[in-house]
Amino acid sequence: MKVGIVGLGLIGGSLALDLKEKGLEIIGVSKRQSTCNLAIEKGIVNGASINFDILQNTDLIIICTPINLIIPTLKSLIPYVDSQTVISDVASVKMDIVYEGSSLWANFIGGHPMAGTSQQGIEAIQAHLFKNAPYVLTPISSTSDLAIAKMREIIELIESKIYICEPKIHDQAVALISHLPVVISANLIYTALSEKDKKVLELAKKLASSGFKDTSRVGGGNPELGLMMAKYNRQNLLSFLCQYRENLDLFIKEIEQENWQNLEEILQQTAVSLNDFRD
Ligand code: NAP
Repeated sequence: MKVGIVGLGLIGGSLALDLKEKGLEIIGVSKRQSTCNLAIEKGIVNGASINFDILQNTDLIIICTPINLIIPTLKSLIPYVDSQTVISDVASVKMDIVYEGSSLWANFIGGHPMAGTSQQGIEAIQAHLFKNAPYVLTPISSTSDLAIAKMREIIELIESKIYICEPKIHDQAVALISHLPVVISANLIYTALSEKDKKVLELAKKLASSGFKDTSRVGGGNPELGLMMAKYNRQNLLSFLCQYRENLDLFIKEIEQENWQNLEEILQQTAVSLNDFRD
């Protein structure tokens, strides 16, 4: 299979690396010539260019640009590809992209590999980043069998776990377990930085260890990505943030009123139920 990867950053570059290792022919397109040169140097692509004409005769193209550029990129590459070419994307939010992408290209299918790091760009790529991680496909009624089959093949090769769901349900679920944690975690760092007493803040910085590292990791990641999640999944994120605020008020009330038994019951429930969110 000849696969085009557009956007040779963390996700696109890591996908290219794994798929080339599995013997596929990988053609890369990126914005900067220096990224294309590096991709060739690192051996993660068979060829790379800043021009879309290099994508002619590909069986599948995966668009791995920032979210706001997925649809503009799709529009720009359409003149260069054959109607049988399947086109997918990796954006973390699916609703608008899937419906617009499918109206522009019959063989379009939305996808979301759910793995990443706090780094970005081609320098941050990692081998086997997607192994054992969920890879969500969001076909709609018009999605072709060809598109589903091609993406299934890719997902099996990178050893991800495939999940199929509607774009709307995907966006709600990721708002809850991915986008809400980014905002809460960023707010935790922001709250720590708001400490007015310099002595307290300096000591806190020195004492911060595993607990703070675990809870602040996702809030201290790629700011551009966090902003895109908020912009593109705004309504779902807002609705979970309102629920979070309500629950936070409940915690505040229990602590203010020294309702230790109620607080213990909540903490027991969260301790037991956390395993439901883990494999
Ligand atoms: P990234 O590391 O910043 O990579 C994006 C790459 O896109 C950049 O390296 C840039 O390449 C390239 N690019 C920008 N504009 C372009 C254009 N007009 N044409 C072609 N290439 C262009 O970001 P990322 O983390 O890989 O995220 C990319 C996508 O993956 C996003 O849609 C995001 O929602 C999704 N995603 C991210 C994660 C995560 O945790 N990071 C997880 C799952 C899905 P140059 O170096 O050439 O400028």
